[in-house]
Amino acid sequence: PRKLVIVVTPTYNRAMQAYYLNRVAQTLRLVEPPVLWIVVEGNAASFETSEILRKTGVMYRHLVCKRNMTSIRDRGVHQRNTALEHIELHKLDGIVYFADDDNIYTLELFQSLRQISRFGTWPVAMLAPSKNKAILEGPVCNGSQVIGWHTNEKSKRLRRFHVDMSGFAFNSTILWDPKRWRRPFTHPTRQLDNLKEGFQETTFIEQVVADESDMEGVPPDCSRILNWHLHLDARDVPYPQGWTIQKNLEAL
Ligand code: UDP
Repeated sequence: PRKLVIVVTPTYNRAMQAYYLNRVAQTLRLVEPPVLWIVVEGNAASFETSEILRKTGVMYRHLVCKRNMTSIRDRGVHQRNTALEHIELHKLDGIVYFADDDNIYTLELFQSLRQISRFGTWPVAMLAPSKNKAILEGPVCNGSQVIGWHTNEKSKRLRRFHVDMSGFAFNSTILWDPKRWRRPFTHPTRQLDNLKEGFQETTFIEQVVADESDMEGVPPDCSRILNWHLHLDARDVPYPQGWTIQKNLEAL
C-alpha cells in the first residue's frame, strides 16, 4: 500500500510569503496520490494564508500555534511541534516531512518519500547569493546505506548529523509507538524547544535514530539533489495588507 505523505510547513506573513506558499502549493498539487499539507501559523490564522490555502486545490489543514512565542526568532520550532502534536493526537498514519515554505521541491522528492519505511534522509543544496556557490548538506551513501556527511560552515559546530530541516522524513508511528523504534525516548518533539540555530535538526534526529545504520538514504545512492534551500528572504519589505489594494495608488 502506498503511504500517505504528510507535509508540515510553518509559515508567517511577510512580503515573500505569497510567492513561497504558491510555489510550494503548485508542486504539492501535482503529487499523486494527493499529500496532506499541514500549514501552521503562529498566534492566529491570517487572512493572507487562509486565502492562499483555499485556492490551492491541495488537501490541507490550517493550524495555529497558540504557544507563547519566544522573543528571539524561533524559526518555526513551536509551529512544527504543533503539527506533530496534531499528527499524534489524530494518529495520522504516514511519512512526515518538514517542508519549509521558502524551499524548492521536485515532484520526484515526494515520490521518493513513499519509499521510506522508518527514517529517510538525503542531501539538500543551499543557494545563498552571498556565498557564491551551492552548499551541500546531508548524507553520503553507499546504496541506501548512509556512510558519511556533506559538511559545511555550520559543521564546525559539533553537530552529530549534518542534515537540513527539509532533508529528512520519518514514519509518523514514531510519535506514538516507541516500541517499534530502537531507542527509547521521552517525546522527540518537546526537545525541539529552545535550541540554538543549526541544532534543531540534529537534536530531533538524535531522538529517533541511534546512528547511521537506522537511516535510509533517499533515493538509494543519494546522488541526486531533490530540493533546494534558498536564502533570499527579505523580512521587512512592505506589501499591501492581504494582497488587496484598498485605494487607487495606495502608498505602501
Ligand atoms: N518561520 C515561521 N516563523 C518565523 C520564522 C520562520 O513560521 O518567525 C518558518 C518559515 O516560514 C519557514 C521556516 O520557518 O517555513 C524556516 O524559516 P527560515 O527559512 O527563515 O529559516 P532558515 O531556513 O533561514 O533556517
